[in-house]
Amino acid sequence: MHLQKETALQEKTPLVIMGIPFHDMTFEETVSWALERIRSGRSGYIITANLDFVMQSRRDPELQRIMLEADLVVADGAPLVWISRMFGPKLRQRVTGSDLTPMLAGACRDENLSIFALGAARGVPQKAMDALKEKYPGLQVAGFYSPPKADILDMDHEDILRKIRDAGPDLLLVAFGAPKQEKWINMHFREWQVPLAIGIGGTLDFLAGTQRRAPLLVQKAGMEWFWRMLTDPRRLLGRYASNLVFLARESIRLGRLSRGGGPKNEPLPVPQDAILEDLQAVFIPMKPMASRTALQTFLERLLPVVQTHSLVLDLSEIKALNSLELGGLVALEKTCRKYKGRVFLWNAGRGIQRYLQACGLTDYLRIVDTLEELQSQLGKLQRIVREGSVVDMGQGFLKIRMPLELTVTNLEDFRQKVDGIWDRLSAQGGLDEITIDAGQLEFIDSSALGFLVGLKKKAQAQNILMEFHGFSGDAGKTLKLARLDKLLGS
Ligand code: UDP
Repeated sequence: MHLQKETALQEKTPLVIMGIPFHDMTFEETVSWALERIRSGRSGYIITANLDFVMQSRRDPELQRIMLEADLVVADGAPLVWISRMFGPKLRQRVTGSDLTPMLAGACRDENLSIFALGAARGVPQKAMDALKEKYPGLQVAGFYSPPKADILDMDHEDILRKIRDAGPDLLLVAFGAPKQEKWINMHFREWQVPLAIGIGGTLDFLAGTQRRAPLLVQKAGMEWFWRMLTDPRRLLGRYASNLVFLARESIRLGRLSRGGGPKNEPLPVPQDAILEDLQAVFIPMKPMASRTALQTFLERLLPVVQTHSLVLDLSEIKALNSLELGGLVALEKTCRKYKGRVFLWNAGRGIQRYLQACGLTDYLRIVDTLEELQSQLGKLQRIVREGSVVDMGQGFLKIRMPLELTVTNLEDFRQKVDGIWDRLSAQGGLDEITIDAGQLEFIDSSALGFLVGLKKKAQAQNILMEFHGFSGDAGKTLKLARLDKLLGS
């Protein structure tokens, strides 16, 4: 299969609304994108994010990160389209998962591609696939499966992956509800060789007829959420009520903060070239971007730079960041990360700082206020901190220092490092105590949490004392959300 080199800078820049990047796509464009992606041979996934995703991502750093790094996030809901204009260019239309799914199925039929339906209650995926086959005769259904309901860390991942591998679909529809489906896809899409996956929430239930969609008029008025609430108030009333409160509160608050302004600090001088070179960083002034084209040109000019250096972007000429400029920054950070660098924001005014903070973006886009802070942040990217370490301290004591981030992308290397030394020491009969130091860990995802739970179980089985220290910030939040803070917390 032909593998293309991917970089976020060459893709369509998203609009960042309330801290989440949305791609301004129509249904037709999304279907074409999907087909092109399937043909390209590099695995990807689509997120159809509604207001509830935006709200959940405030307390769920992993969900926000998944959306920040996803190839395609479309706006599944009218409220997102309504408020988009408060933050920059308006999204042209909503792209609902329930409408997109049959369109994707139709395109797959036309292109001779197969689909697999995963999730929902037993019997539902089969009915849903039968309905799609009736609508699109000749559609190839590679398979369907409803795994027993369980928390993401307790699911039988291997069993599900085997079923998918054996069926070998081109498009995988995952209906575990959000954010479980997004986390599950993110855990596996890099290695499962399915060209494209999409989280589709309750769509299989609609297709199977086990849930009814709102009448077309209600859908067109952007009131489908209201209809769903009336049909299942016990489950959805609380959710939609809190979504509404969130929408009202945050659109006003963020709308005001997005205008930036506020007192500007005395601009910091540009660090000397020699210092920057030493830190493998390049200093770039950023100007307000008048159009998508101007932004794209700016980003493309930086493409060769980010492959070897971190970027320090001077924002002294920027008073406020609109959704497009913020989308550009997110695309830059995403690309920098691929090359093990980062973006740092230099001379960001108080207004911009407050806005980024309110959007929950300051852990992804780092603001630095002094040269010392920049040096310390760049220092963290050095290998020893970035990758963590496993040190045999002697006398039966092993110290595991967690890396800067532990996610599905670097977990395998870290696992091998830990297992290698652990197994060697215990074979020598000399391992009594293990300390896991998370002091420098800034971010962790579900795959890595599963790994830590596995370590704890292994220690218990071998009668080894294991202690965890230092979970804080986003990593601490993720631990709590997964209700592992008691098991793994310090
Ligand atoms: N679901 C599942 N496993 C789970 C949780 C949910 O298969 O652990 C299925 C559920 O049966 C339903 C679908 O996921 O078919 C969507 O659930 P929900 O309506 O909660 O998600 P939403 O559409 O609101 O994101």
